[in-house]
Formats: sequence, C-alpha cells, structure tokens
Amino acid sequence: TQYVYRFGGGVSDGGKGDRNLLGGKGANLAEMASIGLPVPPGFTISTEFCDVYYQEGRAFPQGLRDEVATGIAHIEGITGKKFGDAADPLLVSVRSGARASMPGMMDTVLNLGLNDQTVQGLAETSGDARFAWDSYRRFIQMYADVVLELDHAAFEDALEIAKEDNGYYLDTDLTADDLQKLVAEYKTLVEQQWNKPFPQDVHDQLWGAVGAVFGSWQSERAKVYRRLNDIPAAWGTAVNIQAMVFGNMGETSATGVAFTRDPAKGDRAYYGEFLINAQGEDVVAGIRTPQYLTVAAREAAGAKPASMEEAMPEVYGELAKVFDLLETHYRDMQDIEFTVQQGKLWMLQTRSGKRTAKAALKIAVDMAEEGLITREEAVARVDPQALDQLLHPTLDPSAKRDVLTKGLPASPGAASGAAVFDSDTAEKRAAAGESVILIRTETSPEDIHGMHAAKGILTARGGMTSHAAVVARGMGRPCVSGAGTISIDAKAGVMRVAGREIHAGDIVTIDGSTGEVMAGAVPTVQPELSGDFGTLMAWADGVRRLKVRANAETPLDARVARDFGAEGIGLCRTEHMFFDAERITNVRQMILAEDEAGRRVALEKLLPEQRSDFVELFEVMAGLPVTIRLLDPPLHEFLPHEEAEFAEVASAAGVDIDVLKRRAAELHEFNPMLGHRGCRLGVTYPEIYEMQARAIFEAAIEVAVKSGAAPIPEVMIPLVGTRRELELMKQVVDKAAQAVFADKGREIEYLVGTMIELPRACLMAGEIAEVGEFFSFGTNDLTQTTLGVSRDDAARFLTTYVERGIYAKDPFVSLDVEGVGQLIELAAERGRAARAGIKLGICGEHGGDPASIAFCEKVGLDYVSASPYRVPIARLAAAQAAL
Ligand code: PEP
Ligand code: MG
Repeated sequence: TQYVYRFGGGVSDGGKGDRNLLGGKGANLAEMASIGLPVPPGFTISTEFCDVYYQEGRAFPQGLRDEVATGIAHIEGITGKKFGDAADPLLVSVRSGARASMPGMMDTVLNLGLNDQTVQGLAETSGDARFAWDSYRRFIQMYADVVLELDHAAFEDALEIAKEDNGYYLDTDLTADDLQKLVAEYKTLVEQQWNKPFPQDVHDQLWGAVGAVFGSWQSERAKVYRRLNDIPAAWGTAVNIQAMVFGNMGETSATGVAFTRDPAKGDRAYYGEFLINAQGEDVVAGIRTPQYLTVAAREAAGAKPASMEEAMPEVYGELAKVFDLLETHYRDMQDIEFTVQQGKLWMLQTRSGKRTAKAALKIAVDMAEEGLITREEAVARVDPQALDQLLHPTLDPSAKRDVLTKGLPASPGAASGAAVFDSDTAEKRAAAGESVILIRTETSPEDIHGMHAAKGILTARGGMTSHAAVVARGMGRPCVSGAGTISIDAKAGVMRVAGREIHAGDIVTIDGSTGEVMAGAVPTVQPELSGDFGTLMAWADGVRRLKVRANAETPLDARVARDFGAEGIGLCRTEHMFFDAERITNVRQMILAEDEAGRRVALEKLLPEQRSDFVELFEVMAGLPVTIRLLDPPLHEFLPHEEAEFAEVASAAGVDIDVLKRRAAELHEFNPMLGHRGCRLGVTYPEIYEMQARAIFEAAIEVAVKSGAAPIPEVMIPLVGTRRELELMKQVVDKAAQAVFADKGREIEYLVGTMIELPRACLMAGEIAEVGEFFSFGTNDLTQTTLGVSRDDAARFLTTYVERGIYAKDPFVSLDVEGVGQLIELAAERGRAARAGIKLGICGEHGGDPASIAFCEKVGLDYVSASPYRVPIARLAAAQAAL
C-alpha cells in the first residue's frame, strides 16, 4: 500500500475527493496545489496508516520510512533546502488532519528541523538571528509540550522571567541574545524533566512528531470530541508534513485566518483576522489581539490598528482573489489559513467553514440566488437540527440590563446561569440540573466537556476565531469572547469587572449576538424568523413528499405550530388538556368515581370544557386535519398525592376524603404504563370515550356552522392491540356521532383510526386496518414495548448503553430503525394490504428527529407529527429525505 501522497511544485498525488484517505486538510492542500494556488510543498501520510500505527504497537515499518524519505526529497527538490543541513536547513510543520475537522483537538508541531547547528544556518540565510532563535525557542517549547508531554507551565514561566528580568512587556522585545539564553534554559528544562537531552537529530524529531500526531487520535479530548460529534474512531487521522513558511520574518510578514463570508451572520463579506510578524498559533491562541482584514470590518468595530487591506494592500488584493477562486471552486464558504512571508502569500489550509445556523441559512439561500449552487443543494446544506438555534429566544430588548462589560459577539444566542470558573464544576452543576455560564480566561481543548455542559461561555481573551468562539459556534452555545476588562481568579472563584465582583454561583447573562455581559438574569423573547428562513423553507416544501403535522393540544401551541408551517395536528393528547390546576380535579373525580353514575357526574362537568377546547383547536387549524386521541392516561400521572389534592376532589365530588383515599389505593398499579390505560379505559368505562366523542362532534359542527367549512376530525384510539378493541371503541364513537348529528340536524365527515404502539398491533395490522381508517405510529410506546425499556426509567442506564455501543443512539430520541423499524415496516405493509391507501403517520417524539424522518420517508408514511418547535426541523428533514 502507498501511504505517502505529495503536493506542491506542480505535483498533486491526491485531491479534494480523497478526504477519507488524506483527511480534510491533506485533501484540500493537494487540491489547492493542483489549481495553482501558492501552497508550500509537502506530503500527507494517509489515514490508512493510522490504523497500521496502532496495530504495529505505535511503530513505523521500514516501508513507511522509505516513502517519507521520498516525500522529504520532494520538498527539498522544490525549496532547494535540505532537511538537517547546517548551512541552509529545511524546516517543516507536522500537523494532524482527520476526515472531519476537529478544531484544536489534535496536535501540531511547527519549525521542526531546528537544532544547535541548523539554527545558525537559519540565522545566516534569513539574515535575522533573532528570528532564528525565536523559531528554535518556539520549536523546543511546542515539541516539549506536544511530543514529550512535559509540563508546559515551566516553559511559559521561563519566558515570563526572561521578559521580566529585562523589563520587557512583549515577547517581541526579546533580542537574539535573550532568546539564545532562553533556548539554553529550555534545553535544560527538557533534560531535567525528560532525563534525556533535547533531540538534535532532525529525523528523530520528525518521527517523534509523527508519532505524537497519530497518538493524539486516541487522546482523551479527541475521544470526547468524537463522541459529541458522532465521529467514528475507525476513521483515523492523516499527518501532513509541509515546508515551513514564516509569518514572523518582520513587518512584511503576517499570518491570518479568514472566512470567505461572515460565519456568524452569513453576510457576503470577507471576514477574518491577521497579525503582522507572528506565527499561526499566535492568532488562534488569542495571546495578541488580532487586527481586522478589511477596512469595512475595522470601521464597523471602531478599531484603530490598520486592517490588512490598509497595511498590505497588494497582498490583500491577491488574497481576495484567492477567496473568490476558492469559493467558486468549492461552491461553499471557506475557512482559510494563510501566511505572508516577506510579502509573498502562502495558503496553508482551506476547508468548508463552520457557521452558525443563521449564517448557514443565509449562505445557502444567497449562494442559490447567486447561481453558485442549486436550490436543492441549498436545502441539503442546512442541518435541520441547527435550525433549533434560530427558533430559540433572544434577550428581551426592552428588559433592564445591568451591563458589566462587552466582549466579542462570538456565537449568537443569549443565556443566563450561575457563574462557574472551571469545566469540571460546570459539568457537575449542569448534571444536577442547574444552568451555568462557563467563565474562563481562555478556553482550551481540555474545556470541551464544560463548554458542552454550560448554557453559555464567556472568555476574557481571544478573538472571533479563538478556540472558545469556534467550538461554541459548532456546539450552538452562545459565547462572548475576549471580554478584556474582566479579570478572573478561578481559584478564588471570583471575576472582577468594572469595579465589581461576581462570585461563583452568582447569576450572569451573556448575549452572544452583541457581546454584552450582564449581572443577573435577563428575560428573553421569541425570535423573529428572517426572510431567508421563509425562503429556504419554501424551497424545502417544494421538495418534500411527507406532510408535517404537530403534536399540540392548546390553542397557543397549535398557533405556534401553524406559524411554523404545520399542516394539521397529528396528535392532540386529550389528557393533557386537563393538566391545569382547575380541570384536573374533575378528571380525578372521574377516575376515582366508584361507578358509572359517579363518572357521568364528573363527565358532565368535563364535556363543556372539552368541547370549547376543540372549538378553538378546529378554528386555529381551519381547513387542516386534526387528529384527536381519546383519553390515554397512565393513571399514576393523574391520581392525587397530596392531602390538599384529595380534599379538593372530595369537595368537588361530595364524597368523604377517606373513601377517595381507599379508591386511590385500589387504583394503585405496579406497572402503570402497562396497566389500565389507553383503550382499556375506554373498554371498561365507555362513557368516557362517549363524552369525548360528543365533545369532538359538537365542536366540529359548531365550527362548521360558524365558519361554513367543516373540519374533518380524525378520532384516534390509543394502545390498541387487537381488532376487537378497536371495533368496540369505534362503535362508541360512531354511536356518539350519530346522536350528535341527529341532535344538530347536520352531518360531518370524520375518520376513526388507531395508534399503533404495541408490537402485537404491528403484527396484527392487517386485521386492525379492516376496522381502523388510519394508523399513527406511537413510537414512544412502541419503543418502550419493543425494547422492553421503560420510558420513565431508562435514563439510569441509557448513557452507559450508548457509551458502550449497545444502542447507537438513545432509542427514545432517534428511532431504532433496525428493530422497531422492522415492526413499523411490517405494519405499514399489512395495513396497506388490508386497506388500500390507508393513511399512515407517526406521532412519537421521533417525528421531529431527522434520522427517524428519513426512515419514515423510506417506508412511505404519509406524514410525521412533531412538537411545534420542531416543525421547521421536520419540514427541512423531510425535504432532505426526499432529495
Ligand atoms: C407514543 O406512544 O408514541 C405517543 C405518541 O403517545 P404518548 O407519548 O402520549 O404515550
Ligand atoms: Mg403512547
């Protein structure tokens, strides 16, 4: 097998199609080289070797050594420099590059190839001894950290002391002599901690670095990141070895990162940051505050230091051309790293840029309108789950704000929570159900679990492309970065800002869209959906086949659902209509009644309430189907528990409280989910379903009379397992309908169907479809009953089950397509065979999950029904499933 692939100097062994083999970075370096962009020459060791590396016990076979020698020769041939040559040494960078980008997760070593001899050569050829010693100093520091895994604080301290001793403020104040001394100190530190001298053989250096990069694939932080982002461990990383170019060779040199469009808002404007006389890690690490790329961005921010457009107009012009070329070539927004070495531009990386949901939407719509991509591609490009970010609240603009300071608006959205100053605490307090804001001087990959647990992230240092900003955007967490006026004493658990102190546990609010940091909680408001949202949704609607309905019972939820584009109600859980304090007493009276007469008394009180609810629902959903499920209360959710609750029911029913308590004790169940619920309640107490059916038909006729258009109610019977159950319940509903029609002198159309939420119902779907006019898959219960896993008790072991690969995902969130999916497929087939064209839908939580929706499309269901906020997600996911 070939493991080494070259690029640069007119050679490209790979290209952008080789992402799996070369990783994203390697594939794109090869691609950029092949389209003639200035890429420093180099080569990639493929991801296939990552596997071999671990199989071989972290060793390098001779074959690979030979191939790497050829790769080095390739770079030497183009640069005219020799690796390890004392007179004119070749220096290389060694970087990771996996198939999916994992920002900041894995290791990088720069300036490799420096030793006590080559540093002299570098000083000679560059004519800049300070630069040479600074590079050597950086190299030892990075190598000690990344490859030798020594304590990096010791090196930072040595650097700080060197500055203090000389009364310097900036790293750049250090002279060549100072740096030479620092190098000697660093070498001593290495020897003390590692018990061996710093490696002087450049080949030893190289193999050490390559091993470290492959090794970083199995680091703890990389594992956490993969788990959070569903990246398989089997993919492995590639290693890129490339000639160094230097952004730190004086005032005509620079380094920067850029996006071809604004990654936060999506505007069509170059967007980025750069630093003159610096190396790449200076920008990302957030140690110096970077300058803007364009005049427009600088002015918009009211910043002083010259933008790149002003400071280096020629190179900037060249860079802008490269941006356009890359966008046209890749047909997507790109995230770019570049370096300017003594006035010459070099491209170090390009990749599809991470972006907020808002930006994703705008960029997709704009690119389709620019003709760069098709509308279908635009629909395919927006992650349905990410729409969540857009649909959620922002700070109420009219609310009072106690603003402490302002940082950079690094990731949009607003959040309030208790201040915490370290990631472990953030994780702990969040696990205990608290909302927390993680506050750090700067974040590093070690903070990833804390960032994930937090509702928002605030940092004192770092720009818009700092670790905190990039990771928060990817996670969809609000983030304010670089709030420079705050100072944090994490040990003491206090943050000082504007002469005030915020202690751990105090509530703070951040607004990641404006950069504001506030004391206390600030109320939020619902988002306004932009024109782009509507445009993309309309395109999605043009593509999808599946209808999208909502699970809703209150008029408010139904209204939200309609505004979000719901095409009807797929599940109205009637028991939820009785959850509020005033009504639940009547429901309890009904449940606790001793006999039919007692129940009828309670039902008489429930009927008008129920009817008026349905009237409102039919009005909100005018002209659209509304599926109403008859009562399905697992009794434990409704029985009174507190003394006061019993007293209230007792007085409403006019019975003795002790009688009620005895009755409640009789109704106690060991397995309420498998107990007296669903249609079993209707079978034993048909008067309940009779009342509900009356309420439905009376309401439907009332609305028909009022508005002239009759709604078509779909009456749904829950938890059916046999044909006979449905038959009996259908008789009750039909009888109520006939009575109401006779009474009102008017008939309307309606359907009677069933939930399919038991394995037996799936198996017997043929028989059941002879009676039922539609099926709605209740995948919450169907998952519970098929897996034999309690919906209410699964949390205790589910995380372990997912971690250990027993379940790929939480089966209550994303449908177990392999198992439960088979039952659905079979039920759909048998149902259709018995009743041609039977209407099929899904109304479990899975109806709003994109992967489950893809499955529903595959088996040809007619609609999915999701909670109101997930309706747009479902519309987009349904469109993507149809593409
Ligand atoms: C279901 O079981 O999937 C369902 C929608 O019903 P509920 O969640 O109310 O049991
Ligand atoms: Mg159910």
